[in-house]
Amino acid sequence: MAGFRTHITVSSFCGIAYGGVAVQPLGFSTEAGLLAAGVTAVGGMLPDLDSDSGVPVREMFGLAAVLVPLLLVRRLMHAGMSTEGVLAALLFAYAFIRYGVANVFKKFTVHRGMYHSIPAMLISGLCVYLAYHSPDRSIRVLLACGVMIGFLSHLLLDEIYSVDWRGAKPKLKASAGSAFKFGSSSLFATAMCYAILGGLLYLAYLDLKASGADVGF
Ligand SMILES: [Zn+2]
Repeated sequence: MAGFRTHITVSSFCGIAYGGVAVQPLGFSTEAGLLAAGVTAVGGMLPDLDSDSGVPVREMFGLAAVLVPLLLVRRLMHAGMSTEGVLAALLFAYAFIRYGVANVFKKFTVHRGMYHSIPAMLISGLCVYLAYHSPDRSIRVLLACGVMIGFLSHLLLDEIYSVDWRGAKPKLKASAGSAFKFGSSSLFATAMCYAILGGLLYLAYLDLKASGADVGF
């Protein structure tokens, strides 16, 4: 399989291209283009969150431990919490995500399980779409597509690396087909994955309906 460095390099290049296309010809602001590029690069790391000891796992939980509490600051301030209270909440949230959530995560995932799959890619896109609040829906779609492009680049790379190119005839390694898939051998993991996907699709549908947009289906 492709290493962390290969994944992040390829997804970063995808991100730069995607961010560029978003600005010109799609007409998004430069800031939105930069954000889309960053989200695409991060998307390329996501599938390997299931490996137990890799750099991406530590990086991603480190990033999440900082970003998630930061996103909550406005909400906590709005709820009338004091500055000390907000700071304490940030510290606890950091420790909770960095050590608590990360450990639970390690226990329940299998490497090359459902994290390397098409439904997981769709879940990552829907999560970004639902989590990012903006009055401009097109930016939410832009970022959701970005994370999915990064994710897809990871799955494709893993598949490319599972072909043994040495010798006259390329051969498939045992890991072939374990990245670009729709279900895994674990029925429970597959069912959970589709249940989450279904739930998120429903939330996205509610979100569309609530905003009064014309839904064409
Ligand atoms: Zn991988």
